[in-house]
Amino acid sequence: MANYSGPVCRFCRREGAKLYLKGERCYTPKCAIERRAFAPGMHGQARKRKTSDYGIQLRAKQKARRIYGLLEKQFRNYFDKATNEPGVTGLNLLRHLETRLDNVVYRLGLGASRKQARQLVTHRHFEVNGKLVNVPSYQVKPGDELKVRPSNGVFDVALDASKVRPVPSWLSFNTDEKSAKVLARPDRHEMESGVEEQLIVEFYSR
Ligand code: SF4
Repeated sequence: MANYSGPVCRFCRREGAKLYLKGERCYTPKCAIERRAFAPGMHGQARKRKTSDYGIQLRAKQKARRIYGLLEKQFRNYFDKATNEPGVTGLNLLRHLETRLDNVVYRLGLGASRKQARQLVTHRHFEVNGKLVNVPSYQVKPGDELKVRPSNGVFDVALDASKVRPVPSWLSFNTDEKSAKVLARPDRHEMESGVEEQLIVEFYSR
């Protein structure tokens, strides 16, 4: 599946918030939001006009999509799945995003950013329930066991870079054995707080 590989700090500047897309740099004064807290482009510093409801919904959707590093089609597919499931659509959508294998690796602190976590998955560093999985979109479920395959120290670097983020309570991680277990489905308060899922539902329901 295609993946965006251009500059990403402009996404944070567009959304006016830190999306933590660059790992360690995001926690330093070098962060672009710290230095240029206005939208990118020629008119980035122009006086802001009032944003329409559509504009607000669009920004909410783009922000979530960029946090999880997905293309529009992938994101839309998750929304369609969430709509067809029982329960609250917005929560279903967020659960699909949170339980992607690349996000789980990031949540475990094994990648400094979701992008790095995705790369570790595609580079065949993980087993799920004893089988190699190199698909970042693989959806984990309660009871699944993850194991880091014997590798070359890349994880020690990643672990150092991501100590600032605690592992959420729906996952358990054994640092010594480099193995993890999915204990439950994530609750809303354990997912991205900056995502406004209701606005995303409104955007796609127009
Ligand atoms: Fe966003 Fe991180 Fe770039 Fe700061 S350094 S603008 S948080 S991607």
